[in-house]
Amino acid sequence: MSDEKEKRTRKPLGLKRAVDAGEVKQTFSHGRTNKVAVEVKRRRKLLKPGETPAPEPAPEPAPQPAPEPAPAPAAKKPAPAKSTKGAPAGETPQERVKRLQREAEEQRLEQLAQDRKREEEQARKRDEKEAQQREENRKAEEEAEKRAAEDAKANAEAEKQAEAAKADASAEGEADAAPAARKFTPVARPEPKRPEKKKKEDKRAAKDTGGGKDKRRSGKLTVTKALNEDEGRRARSLAALKRAREKERRAQGGPAKPREKQIRDVVVPEAITVGELAKRMGEKGADLVKELFNLDMMVTVNQTIDQETAELLVEQFGHNIEKVSEADVDISTEEDVDPEETLKPRPPVVTIMGHVDHGKTSLLDALRGTDVTKGEAGGITQHIGSYQITTKDKAKITFLDTPGHAAFSEMRQRGANVTDIVVLVVAGDDGIMPQTIEAINHTKAADVPMIVAINKMDKPEADANNIRSRLLEHEVIVEAMSGDVQDVEISATKGTGLDELLEKIQLQAELLELKARPDREADATVIEAQLDKGRGPVATVLITRGTLKRGDTFVVGTESGRVRAIVNDQGKQIKEAGPSMPVEVLGLGGVPSAGDQLTVVENEQRAREVAEYRREKATEQRTALAPTSFDTMFNNLASDVIEWPVLVKADVQGSVEAIVNALHNISTDDIKVRVLHAGVGAITESDVTLAAASNAPIIGFNVRPNAKARELVKRDGVRMMYYDVIYHLTEEVAKEMAGELGPERIETVVGRAQVKEVFRSGKRDKAAGLLVEDGVIRKGLFARLTRDDVIVSATTIASLRRFKDDVDEVRSGLECGVVLEDTNDIQPGDQLEVFEVEERERTLEV
Ligand code: GDP
Ligand code: MG
Repeated sequence: MSDEKEKRTRKPLGLKRAVDAGEVKQTFSHGRTNKVAVEVKRRRKLLKPGETPAPEPAPEPAPQPAPEPAPAPAAKKPAPAKSTKGAPAGETPQERVKRLQREAEEQRLEQLAQDRKREEEQARKRDEKEAQQREENRKAEEEAEKRAAEDAKANAEAEKQAEAAKADASAEGEADAAPAARKFTPVARPEPKRPEKKKKEDKRAAKDTGGGKDKRRSGKLTVTKALNEDEGRRARSLAALKRAREKERRAQGGPAKPREKQIRDVVVPEAITVGELAKRMGEKGADLVKELFNLDMMVTVNQTIDQETAELLVEQFGHNIEKVSEADVDISTEEDVDPEETLKPRPPVVTIMGHVDHGKTSLLDALRGTDVTKGEAGGITQHIGSYQITTKDKAKITFLDTPGHAAFSEMRQRGANVTDIVVLVVAGDDGIMPQTIEAINHTKAADVPMIVAINKMDKPEADANNIRSRLLEHEVIVEAMSGDVQDVEISATKGTGLDELLEKIQLQAELLELKARPDREADATVIEAQLDKGRGPVATVLITRGTLKRGDTFVVGTESGRVRAIVNDQGKQIKEAGPSMPVEVLGLGGVPSAGDQLTVVENEQRAREVAEYRREKATEQRTALAPTSFDTMFNNLASDVIEWPVLVKADVQGSVEAIVNALHNISTDDIKVRVLHAGVGAITESDVTLAAASNAPIIGFNVRPNAKARELVKRDGVRMMYYDVIYHLTEEVAKEMAGELGPERIETVVGRAQVKEVFRSGKRDKAAGLLVEDGVIRKGLFARLTRDDVIVSATTIASLRRFKDDVDEVRSGLECGVVLEDTNDIQPGDQLEVFEVEERERTLEV
């Protein structure tokens, strides 16, 4: 009767399946669900060959209307599964018993199905009620409501039909079920959802012929879904229907009806009243209060909630969170656009780039010499690297002295795209070199027009045409090659071609139509900044628009200040500076970074507020970079590399870069310097905080902590390393890092021996009788015992004897007895290797 047993065990499964299959759970938005009966068919086995055919016709109730067929894939699935299993051919008594049992089971099922129907009826009523409520709540859902009502009708009808079908539940073939279900698919209640979402789902459903939608929707169907290949078709037809409806609706009512909830971007400040939040969300205050009540928070509309709670609510109601944006506190110069009519032409800003020794500095000097305003007394003292010249025809051109290509791109990365034109210097006697290519790439990336200056044309070996054709390889096509890049042959040292170069710069500038509004508060970009011994923090800035005046209050990067003095490129104090002028500004609260924006603001309070805000943000970002983050933790785990974290502060940007470079050069595969932060200026509180959090020392190069930072240093025990010579710094750090790695262990093998025999020594120990084969064996030395070349133990020679006498040393060729420290695992035939270990202090190359 194992067969019987199997049947029984299987039956419950079949039953379950049948029941599940007979019902469709629909899930709607807002968590509402609906259950719908699809005819439960139980007689499929009767269809099978051999069963007594007449009395038990497959009771497929063809007209069984699946009232809510949408996600209703299941019905017919279970049937095939069961029938394949069930039906024997030619009924034997045994089979008869089985059949009877089955029939009894089916009766029970029928009963169950009826119960279920009752439940469904109730569920449906509930749903209707809900729908009504929705209608009250939201006029916008009228249409959906109407549809729901229609559905209800359809359902009722379906119900009736179902009843009828059951009455004559008999002779219908199972195959009919599917068509029936499909037939009724159209009455699917449209989900009262947001149209876009629906569309998306439709698309998905349409794509997913496997009935993915149903899978998603109703866990109950999982048992059957694998069997149901009809599902896909249904899902498809449903999707098609929905699409058609959507189309119809659009055709009639224009844009989707407002039953769609509007999703808003809600600005969530640190604290907000419930009422205000409701207003921003476009929800009723009472609804929020209710929701909060659900969160166990008893608040009224007028009470203030914190950001976290507010965010929770915003999410709950399906809106987007927008935290207080930078714009609320910070200054956004992009938004502050000057009207076209206020703009006046401004001088072009030119950056000279090129390979080392191709003559950049020489050209800068030469061009400076062309300044018609230059003083008589033996030229101009170069005060700052950047300068402005006035050409013969009274035009002005600003030249920026950028320390390198990387700095150029770094500035650009920081949104400080101050360069209008790049002059690419290529030595005519040298050619296209790596840094030439680098400069080309940086220029292209910045989308800045380029003028090629072929330099050193005074040299006989200079070949300008060669340069021109070589430039082609890098997609720089000069005019002579029918391209649009201007080029000019010059000699920086002889001063030839300079006028032509200036003309071409002007021509290019005209094409660019460079303009800025001069009569407004100034915006400027920091080109470089340093801590000057006598003058405090000093920044060289390029005015990008407006006019900077002495006494102006400003914010620059994370620092605020008031213009104490403006110094021009010739070292003269001036009262104001207009667009495209490079000037030095004194009166900063701290040293900004290259690329920082300087913005004049209305008052000191505003300046401080913005600076404070930016500082906080900077600290946040830096702390996020601190090695406490999961990322770094993981990285640290993933590799054996030891990191040596450090902060670097120095008086000038050049030193910062040099130090950071030098530190990176000390790094090896085993230990790496990790510069958590590097910057110009005094050591500040936030530096100390970061250092403390990361257990990192702070390197101060020609700078010291300010008063507040000093307190923190003391409190948090942060290590300070002060230097004024880079070499000392790197030497020290290298030593330190080497120490971190621990001393190097250097092993020197001094002897080898073979274990000849093993015997007891004292109560617990074993001694080995050895033959020294190589070198010497000495008491106290490190020893490694190997067996078949596998290390068995690493230990030391505890005692060494020769003929009962303790000895210090046994030479090669002699026999002796040893006791090894902490091990008794010795066997004849083992090899013993003894070695000295020297611990040498590690050094890293500086
Ligand atoms: P940078 O590294 O690109 O700034 O190049 P420099 O301006 O320092 O010049 C490098 C070397 O090339 C110096 O020795 C200059 O004197 C020399 N040099 C620069 N321009 C010319 C030129 O037009 N003709 C000649 N003969 N030598 C030049
Ligand atoms: Mg140079």
